[in-house]
Parts: sequence; C-alpha cells; structure tokens
Amino acid sequence: MARKLAAGNWKMNGVKASLGEATALAEMFPAPKVDILLCPPATLVAPMAQALFGTQVHVGGQDCHMKTSGAHTGDISAEMLLDAGADHVILGHSERRADHGETDQMVAEKTVAATQAGLSPVVCVGETLAQREAGETLAVIRQQLSGSLPDVVDLKKLVIAYEPVWAIGTGKIPTLEQIAEVHDDMRATLVARYGDGAKDIPLLYGGSVKPSNAAEIFATSNVDGALVGGASLKAADFSGIVKAL
Ligand code: 13P
Repeated sequence: MARKLAAGNWKMNGVKASLGEATALAEMFPAPKVDILLCPPATLVAPMAQALFGTQVHVGGQDCHMKTSGAHTGDISAEMLLDAGADHVILGHSERRADHGETDQMVAEKTVAATQAGLSPVVCVGETLAQREAGETLAVIRQQLSGSLPDVVDLKKLVIAYEPVWAIGTGKIPTLEQIAEVHDDMRATLVARYGDGAKDIPLLYGGSVKPSNAAEIFATSNVDGALVGGASLKAADFSGIVKAL
C-alpha cells in the first residue's frame, strides 16, 4: 500500500506571518493518520521547518537545481533544502515547465539530485486542455513519466503528482472516471518500468482540490493523496482535505 500524503504547494505565496497557518495545522494533527507536507517558497523553508520542529508536518521545497553546488545564481540545491529542514521537493511543476522552460530531461536530473541528497521528489506531470481535447492525455502522461524519471530511482522516496494544467487554479476538475483512468494508467506504466515496488509509489492528484471535493477524489482508484495549491494556504481549508484523506 502506498503511503497517504496530503501535500500543500504554497507557490509564490507567504511571508513570515503566514507561518501561523503552518503551526495551526500542526496543532490540529498532533498524531495524523496520513503524511502531511507543506512546501512554502524557498525563503520560508528554514523558518517553517523551525516552526514545525517536533510536529508531524513535513516541509518541502518547490524546486531544486540538478547540481550540488557552484555558479548558479538564484538557484538552490537539494542539499541546501535538506540543510534547511526539508525532506521533500516538488519537481517539474507545470508552472516551472512553463515559466522556466523545464524539460522532462531536466526534471529527471533534478529527481536524481533530490534522491541522492535524501529528499523525496514529488514529480509532477499533466496534460494541457488542448492535449486532453485532442485525446492525447494518456500518451502525454506516459511520455512525461518516461522522460521525467531516471531509470534508476529510489522507489521508496518517489512521489508522483498528476496535475492537469487546465485544472490548476481554475475550479475545474476532471471527472472521477478521468482521474481514475490516468491514475490506473500511471500505476501500470510505473510497474511495467520499475517492477512491483512501484505499487507503493504514492500517486497524488492535484488541481482545484478543496475540502468539498477531496473525499470523492480520494475514493478514486489509485489516488493516494493530493497536491493542493490555493486550499493549502489556510489551515482551516487544508485541514478539511487532510481529514478527507
Ligand atoms: P490549485 O489547488 O490552486 O488548483 O493548485 C494546484 C497545484 O498546482 C498544486 O501544485
């Protein structure tokens, strides 16, 4: 059985005062039955890890470089995230693919860097609306999984997030049948490539997850949790999603 994971992606939101939402969440779940993860902007990784020290809420980054150190102005390495108190990192989010031209190959190299540093990479894939309407969804997801993951990877650390680009921040979600179709296909694709160990890779759904739709999404085939944007910013909202899981 894959572990259950409720992950929040704060994106470019949050200042020091926002850490109160993280500590409020931790107080609501002193002994959570599922894993809880918050990925704040890089400036808040260290202070959030300090604020959450001793709690059951994990902290993650939203990206890392594929190299361990060197002349890469503005970038941070997986080791730096670990050093700051993170144990996860989101990689290949569609916003990074769009804003920073990240390719599958780059995401695969970052995945190697993350696991070598000891972080759990949360590797994101997802089709655009045009790709879905063209009937290309499964082909696109298979291609992204194939290119964004290295041939050798620590399966115990890996997490995959399926985030249809058109469902992010739009209030639109695929039908439950569409989510199941993609998640079942991702599971089969991963097992075919990596063997039975891939049955335990958590497969998260992301895109307009809210407390009101979380339960039915979590009841869907091969959905082991969620990667949540907007609804992860407030403990009152995110706690509803954690409870649904
Ligand atoms: P929303 O939950 O705001 O749609 O964002 C999803 C997302 O991109 C999480 O990584």
